[in-house]
Amino acid sequence: MNVKVGSSIGGKSGRSGELLAQKLYQEGITNQDVLRAIAMSPRHIFVPEILAHKAYENTALPIGQGQTISQPYIVARMSELILADGVPESVLEIGTGSGYQTSILGQLVSKVYSVERIKSLQWQAKRRLRAMDLHNVSMKHGDGWQGWESKGPYQAIVVTAAPSSVPQALLSQLADGGRMIIPVGDQAQVLKLITREGDAFKEQQIEAVRFVPLVPGELL
Ligand code: SAH
Repeated sequence: MNVKVGSSIGGKSGRSGELLAQKLYQEGITNQDVLRAIAMSPRHIFVPEILAHKAYENTALPIGQGQTISQPYIVARMSELILADGVPESVLEIGTGSGYQTSILGQLVSKVYSVERIKSLQWQAKRRLRAMDLHNVSMKHGDGWQGWESKGPYQAIVVTAAPSSVPQALLSQLADGGRMIIPVGDQAQVLKLITREGDAFKEQQIEAVRFVPLVPGELL
Protein backbone atom coordinates (compact mmCIF):
# COMPACT_ATOMS: atom_id res chain seq x y z
CA MET A 1 0.00 0.00 0.00
CA ASN A 2 1.45 3.35 -0.96
CA VAL A 3 -0.31 5.56 1.54
CA LYS A 4 1.10 7.06 4.66
CA VAL A 5 -1.67 8.14 6.98
CA GLY A 6 -0.36 10.95 9.15
CA SER A 7 -0.59 10.16 12.85
CA SER A 8 -2.85 13.10 13.68
CA ILE A 9 -5.36 11.87 11.09
CA GLY A 10 -4.84 8.11 11.30
CA GLY A 11 -4.77 8.13 15.08
CA LYS A 12 -8.33 9.35 15.29
CA SER A 13 -9.71 6.99 12.63
CA GLY A 14 -7.88 3.82 13.77
CA ARG A 15 -10.38 1.88 15.86
CA SER A 16 -13.49 3.33 14.17
CA GLY A 17 -12.10 2.55 10.72
CA GLU A 18 -11.43 -1.03 11.77
CA LEU A 19 -14.95 -1.45 13.11
CA LEU A 20 -16.37 -0.08 9.87
CA ALA A 21 -14.24 -2.52 7.85
CA GLN A 22 -15.47 -5.37 10.06
CA LYS A 23 -19.07 -4.37 9.40
CA LEU A 24 -18.45 -4.30 5.65
CA TYR A 25 -16.89 -7.76 5.85
CA GLN A 26 -20.06 -8.98 7.53
CA GLU A 27 -22.05 -7.40 4.70
CA GLY A 28 -20.15 -9.43 2.13
CA ILE A 29 -17.05 -7.41 1.18
CA THR A 30 -14.19 -9.91 0.99
CA ASN A 31 -11.27 -8.18 -0.75
CA GLN A 32 -8.62 -7.77 1.96
CA ASP A 33 -6.88 -4.82 0.29
CA VAL A 34 -10.18 -2.95 0.08
CA LEU A 35 -11.03 -3.74 3.71
CA ARG A 36 -7.56 -2.62 4.80
CA ALA A 37 -7.91 0.68 2.92
CA ILE A 38 -11.30 1.30 4.54
CA ALA A 39 -9.89 0.43 7.98
CA MET A 40 -6.99 2.87 7.55
CA SER A 41 -8.87 5.79 6.02
CA PRO A 42 -9.89 8.84 8.06
CA ARG A 43 -13.48 9.17 6.74
CA HIS A 44 -14.15 11.88 9.33
CA ILE A 45 -12.05 14.38 7.36
CA PHE A 46 -14.26 13.81 4.28
CA VAL A 47 -17.52 14.93 5.93
CA PRO A 48 -18.64 18.30 7.34
CA GLU A 49 -17.29 18.70 10.88
CA ILE A 50 -20.79 18.72 12.35
CA LEU A 51 -21.34 15.18 10.99
CA ALA A 52 -17.93 13.82 11.96
CA HIS A 53 -19.47 11.68 14.73
CA LYS A 54 -21.38 9.76 12.01
CA ALA A 55 -18.37 9.34 9.71
CA TYR A 56 -17.78 5.65 10.56
CA GLU A 57 -21.40 4.60 10.19
CA ASN A 58 -22.26 2.69 7.05
CA THR A 59 -24.35 5.52 5.58
CA ALA A 60 -24.19 8.19 2.91
CA LEU A 61 -23.99 11.74 4.34
CA PRO A 62 -24.56 15.23 2.88
CA ILE A 63 -21.39 17.11 1.88
CA GLY A 64 -22.99 20.39 0.71
CA GLN A 65 -24.01 21.61 -2.78
CA GLY A 66 -26.82 19.00 -2.73
CA GLN A 67 -24.24 16.19 -2.99
CA THR A 68 -23.42 13.21 -0.77
CA ILE A 69 -20.44 11.14 0.27
CA SER A 70 -21.28 7.58 -0.82
CA GLN A 71 -22.14 4.85 1.66
CA PRO A 72 -18.96 2.96 2.68
CA TYR A 73 -20.50 -0.37 1.58
CA ILE A 74 -20.98 0.90 -1.97
CA VAL A 75 -17.49 2.45 -2.06
CA ALA A 76 -16.04 -0.91 -1.01
CA ARG A 77 -18.24 -2.87 -3.42
CA MET A 78 -17.28 -0.69 -6.39
CA SER A 79 -13.61 -0.89 -5.43
CA GLU A 80 -13.60 -4.67 -5.20
CA LEU A 81 -15.40 -5.00 -8.54
CA ILE A 82 -12.65 -2.87 -10.08
CA LEU A 83 -9.99 -5.20 -8.64
CA ALA A 84 -11.78 -8.49 -9.36
CA ASP A 85 -9.82 -9.14 -12.55
CA GLY A 86 -6.40 -7.99 -11.24
CA VAL A 87 -5.16 -4.55 -10.21
CA PRO A 88 -5.63 -1.99 -13.02
CA GLU A 89 -2.75 0.37 -13.81
CA SER A 90 -4.92 3.49 -13.75
CA VAL A 91 -8.52 4.30 -12.86
CA LEU A 92 -10.76 7.11 -14.07
CA GLU A 93 -13.29 8.24 -11.47
CA ILE A 94 -16.26 10.39 -12.42
CA GLY A 95 -17.67 12.47 -9.51
CA THR A 96 -14.88 13.25 -7.04
CA GLY A 97 -17.34 14.65 -4.47
CA SER A 98 -15.76 14.50 -1.03
CA GLY A 99 -12.77 12.58 -2.39
CA TYR A 100 -13.37 9.58 -0.10
CA GLN A 101 -13.80 7.01 -2.89
CA THR A 102 -10.86 8.70 -4.63
CA SER A 103 -8.67 8.18 -1.55
CA ILE A 104 -9.62 4.49 -1.32
CA LEU A 105 -8.79 3.98 -5.00
CA GLY A 106 -5.55 5.90 -4.53
CA GLN A 107 -4.47 3.31 -1.95
CA LEU A 108 -5.33 0.40 -4.26
CA VAL A 109 -3.93 1.36 -7.68
CA SER A 110 -0.89 3.28 -8.98
CA LYS A 111 -2.73 6.19 -10.57
CA VAL A 112 -6.19 7.75 -10.23
CA TYR A 113 -7.75 10.42 -12.47
CA SER A 114 -10.87 12.05 -11.04
CA VAL A 115 -13.34 14.47 -12.68
CA GLU A 116 -15.74 16.75 -10.74
CA ARG A 117 -18.07 19.50 -12.01
CA ILE A 118 -18.29 21.51 -8.74
CA LYS A 119 -15.06 23.43 -8.19
CA SER A 120 -15.48 23.97 -4.43
CA LEU A 121 -15.93 20.23 -3.79
CA GLN A 122 -12.92 19.43 -5.92
CA TRP A 123 -10.82 21.93 -4.03
CA GLN A 124 -11.77 20.48 -0.64
CA ALA A 125 -11.14 16.92 -1.89
CA LYS A 126 -7.68 17.97 -3.07
CA ARG A 127 -6.88 19.38 0.35
CA ARG A 128 -7.96 16.14 2.09
CA LEU A 129 -5.86 13.91 -0.14
CA ARG A 130 -2.88 16.15 0.53
CA ALA A 131 -3.52 15.82 4.27
CA MET A 132 -3.42 12.03 3.81
CA ASP A 133 -0.11 12.34 1.95
CA LEU A 134 -1.72 10.74 -1.10
CA HIS A 135 -0.07 12.08 -4.24
CA ASN A 136 -1.03 9.68 -7.03
CA VAL A 137 -4.33 11.39 -7.88
CA SER A 138 -4.86 13.93 -10.67
CA MET A 139 -8.05 15.98 -10.66
CA LYS A 140 -9.91 17.79 -13.38
CA HIS A 141 -12.71 20.35 -13.10
CA GLY A 142 -14.89 19.12 -15.95
CA ASP A 143 -17.99 17.35 -17.20
CA GLY A 144 -17.94 13.65 -16.45
CA TRP A 145 -20.18 12.93 -19.44
CA GLN A 146 -17.06 13.68 -21.52
CA GLY A 147 -14.67 11.62 -19.38
CA TRP A 148 -10.98 12.69 -19.55
CA GLU A 149 -9.89 11.68 -23.00
CA SER A 150 -6.27 12.83 -23.02
CA LYS A 151 -5.28 10.54 -20.12
CA GLY A 152 -7.10 7.45 -21.45
CA PRO A 153 -7.72 4.74 -22.34
CA TYR A 154 -8.32 3.44 -18.81
CA GLN A 155 -8.27 -0.13 -17.57
CA ALA A 156 -10.97 0.81 -15.10
CA ILE A 157 -13.63 3.52 -14.85
CA VAL A 158 -15.71 4.16 -11.72
CA VAL A 159 -18.73 6.45 -11.97
CA THR A 160 -20.15 7.73 -8.68
CA ALA A 161 -23.15 9.69 -10.01
CA ALA A 162 -25.95 8.16 -12.08
CA PRO A 163 -26.52 9.00 -15.77
CA SER A 164 -29.79 8.02 -17.46
CA SER A 165 -27.75 5.97 -19.93
CA VAL A 166 -24.06 5.04 -20.18
CA PRO A 167 -22.12 8.00 -21.67
CA GLN A 168 -20.62 7.13 -25.07
CA ALA A 169 -17.39 9.01 -24.24
CA LEU A 170 -16.77 6.74 -21.24
CA LEU A 171 -17.27 3.60 -23.32
CA SER A 172 -14.75 4.85 -25.87
CA GLN A 173 -12.20 5.70 -23.14
CA LEU A 174 -12.37 2.19 -21.63
CA ALA A 175 -9.32 0.11 -22.65
CA ASP A 176 -9.73 -3.25 -24.35
CA GLY A 177 -10.19 -5.76 -21.52
CA GLY A 178 -11.10 -2.93 -19.14
CA ARG A 179 -14.03 -2.72 -16.73
CA MET A 180 -16.43 0.09 -15.85
CA ILE A 181 -18.63 0.24 -12.75
CA ILE A 182 -21.54 2.61 -13.23
CA PRO A 183 -24.97 3.26 -11.69
CA VAL A 184 -27.55 3.80 -14.45
CA GLY A 185 -31.12 5.10 -14.28
CA ASP A 186 -33.28 7.96 -13.05
CA GLN A 187 -35.60 6.91 -10.21
CA ALA A 188 -34.77 3.20 -10.23
CA GLN A 189 -31.03 2.77 -10.62
CA VAL A 190 -28.96 -0.34 -11.08
CA LEU A 191 -25.21 -0.71 -10.63
CA LYS A 192 -23.70 -2.19 -13.79
CA LEU A 193 -20.37 -3.81 -14.52
CA ILE A 194 -19.42 -3.25 -18.15
CA THR A 195 -16.46 -5.12 -19.59
CA ARG A 196 -14.91 -4.36 -22.97
CA GLU A 197 -13.69 -6.99 -25.41
CA GLY A 198 -12.58 -5.24 -28.58
CA ASP A 199 -15.60 -3.37 -29.84
CA ALA A 200 -18.01 -5.49 -27.78
CA PHE A 201 -19.30 -4.36 -24.38
CA LYS A 202 -20.64 -6.97 -21.98
CA GLU A 203 -23.05 -5.80 -19.29
CA GLN A 204 -23.73 -7.37 -15.92
CA GLN A 205 -26.23 -6.06 -13.38
CA ILE A 206 -24.82 -6.00 -9.85
CA GLU A 207 -27.46 -4.53 -7.52
CA ALA A 208 -30.03 -1.77 -7.02
CA VAL A 209 -28.46 1.51 -5.86
CA ARG A 210 -29.28 5.16 -5.21
CA PHE A 211 -26.82 7.84 -6.40
CA VAL A 212 -27.17 11.56 -7.13
CA PRO A 213 -27.62 12.21 -10.87
CA LEU A 214 -24.73 12.70 -13.28
CA VAL A 215 -25.76 16.22 -14.23
CA PRO A 216 -25.35 17.19 -17.87
CA GLY A 217 -23.93 20.51 -19.00
CA GLU A 218 -22.66 23.53 -17.11
CA LEU A 219 -19.82 23.40 -14.57
CA LEU A 220 -20.05 25.11 -11.16
N1 SAH B 1 -17.62 9.30 -4.60
C1 SAH B 1 -18.11 10.54 -4.08
C2 SAH B 1 -19.56 10.69 -4.48
C3 SAH B 1 -19.97 12.10 -4.57
S1 SAH B 1 -21.61 12.34 -5.14
C4 SAH B 1 -17.97 10.54 -2.57
O1 SAH B 1 -18.03 9.46 -1.98
O2 SAH B 1 -17.84 11.60 -1.96
C5 SAH B 1 -21.37 12.48 -6.87
C6 SAH B 1 -20.52 13.61 -7.36
O3 SAH B 1 -20.64 13.66 -8.79
C7 SAH B 1 -20.92 15.00 -6.87
O4 SAH B 1 -19.83 15.62 -6.27
C8 SAH B 1 -21.36 15.74 -8.14
O5 SAH B 1 -21.02 17.12 -8.14
C9 SAH B 1 -20.57 15.00 -9.20
N2 SAH B 1 -21.13 15.14 -10.53
C10 SAH B 1 -22.45 15.15 -10.91
N3 SAH B 1 -22.56 15.33 -12.22
C11 SAH B 1 -21.29 15.43 -12.71
C12 SAH B 1 -20.76 15.62 -14.01
N4 SAH B 1 -21.51 15.75 -15.09
N5 SAH B 1 -19.41 15.67 -14.14
C13 SAH B 1 -18.59 15.54 -13.06
N6 SAH B 1 -19.05 15.37 -11.82
C14 SAH B 1 -20.38 15.30 -11.63
